[in-house]
Amino acid sequence: MNKKNKKGLIIVNTGDGKGKTTAALGTAFRALGYDYKVCMVQFIKGSWNYGELDAAKKFSDNFELIPMGEGFTWNTKDKERDTMVAQRTWELCKEKILSGKYKIVVLDEINIALRYNYLDVHDVMNFLKKKPQDLHVILTGRNAPPEIIEIADLVTEMKEIKHPFKSGVKAQKGIEY
Ligand code: ATP
Ligand code: MG
Repeated sequence: MNKKNKKGLIIVNTGDGKGKTTAALGTAFRALGYDYKVCMVQFIKGSWNYGELDAAKKFSDNFELIPMGEGFTWNTKDKERDTMVAQRTWELCKEKILSGKYKIVVLDEINIALRYNYLDVHDVMNFLKKKPQDLHVILTGRNAPPEIIEIADLVTEMKEIKHPFKSGVKAQKGIEY
């Protein structure tokens, strides 16, 4: 096989185990070491003040972290509003991907928006197929659709073996948020 040194990858972190977003942040951290520019757009904004939001500020020259999806959570009742927010977030993702500014763009929890049909999977797939060649794009979230897995170069499934939540340990600072 003719091996290439460089190719902008489509990376998918999926599965029911913990570590999808943290793995994306870890990749971002590694890239920041080379002064590469990274953008992470978050489709779901939780109720906590994420540690990564403050950490990103410490790398503000090179790391842009944008929490979108205000109020868009796992089981919201307002589908119309969530669809609108997800669409708006996707528009921003496209802009970031085409901007030429970044080495890596992370679409955090986009798989959830696809799963709920807030976004059209074919729109996302067709757009990603034509992404700038050198750019790496990371998509996170459970239940990555098969269409996205199909076009990806690197797919990792986080599999839950144990999670402290199951034994009654609540989310902890620095680990969960
Ligand atoms: P993290 O952000 O910690 O890397 P994740 O991105 O893999 O987690 P998500 O599906 O985005 O996981 O879930 C978000 C929240 O749910 C996180 O606080 C995470 O710790 C928690 N979580 C993830 N996997 C599990 C699990 N198997 N059981 C219970 N809670 C989980
Ligand atoms: Mg996550």
